[in-house]
Amino acid sequence: MAKTALVISAHSADFVWRCGGAIALHASKGYEVSVICLSYGERGESAKLWKNEGMTLEKVKAARKIEAENAAKALDVHDIQFFDLGDYPLEVDRDAKYRIVDVIRKVQPDFMLSHSKWDPYNTDHMYATQVALEARMIAQAWGHNPGEKVLGAPQLYLFEPHQTEQMEWKPDVFLDISPVWDKKWAAIQCMEGQEHLWHYYKNVAENRGNHFMRNSGGQSGGRKSTHAEGFQSVFPRTVDEL
Ligand SMILES: [Zn+2]
Repeated sequence: MAKTALVISAHSADFVWRCGGAIALHASKGYEVSVICLSYGERGESAKLWKNEGMTLEKVKAARKIEAENAAKALDVHDIQFFDLGDYPLEVDRDAKYRIVDVIRKVQPDFMLSHSKWDPYNTDHMYATQVALEARMIAQAWGHNPGEKVLGAPQLYLFEPHQTEQMEWKPDVFLDISPVWDKKWAAIQCMEGQEHLWHYYKNVAENRGNHFMRNSGGQSGGRKSTHAEGFQSVFPRTVDEL
C-alpha cells in the first residue's frame, strides 16, 4: 500500500505557499498526498478577484476552486476536497469535524500538515490547526464509530506562516524541495488572485534552502539546497538511535 499524507488547509491557497514543495516531493516518492481545503478563502484572501467588476461570492469561490485544482494538479496531489465552510471567520461545527475525521481515517496518513498554532493576523489559520488536532484526536478514539480502523499517531507538521516571528513558529525541520521547485513555482503561479505573494514565497523558499545547507553542515560539507520548506513538529519522535 502506498504511503500517504494529509494537508488541512484553512483556505484554498495555503497548501500551495506553505507546503507545496512537501506535497510534490512526497508525490515523487510515491506518497498519495490528500488535501482538505476547509474554505476557498473567498472573503479574506481573494482581494484581487474582488476588484473585478460584477464579482459575487459564488463567482469568487468558483474562481478560487479552479485555481486550487490547477495548483493541486501541478503538485501531483492525489485528492483534493473542498469543504466550503466559509472564511473570515472559518467555522467548523461538529458534523464538519466528523467529516474531517472520516477523511483522516480513510487516508490513514503517515504524517499530517497544517498551520501554525498562533496567528493573530488570521485566526482562521490557527483555528484550522486546532480543528486538525481535534480531528486527529477523534480519529484515534476507539469509541468513535467503533469498527472503523482507528488512527495511529501521525506527526502533525506546522507549515510556515506569514511573518513567522509574530506567530510563535519555530522550525525544527527543513525539507529540501530543490528537486521539485519547478512544480511548486508552477503551482504558485496558478494562484492568480494573490499575485502579490508569488515572489515573497519564492524568497522564503530560497532562504530556507540556505538554512538547509547551514544545518546540514554549512561550508564544511553541508548539502546544497536551492529551495527548502521549514516545519515545526508538534509531537516527539520515537527513536532507537539519536
Ligand atoms: Zn489562508
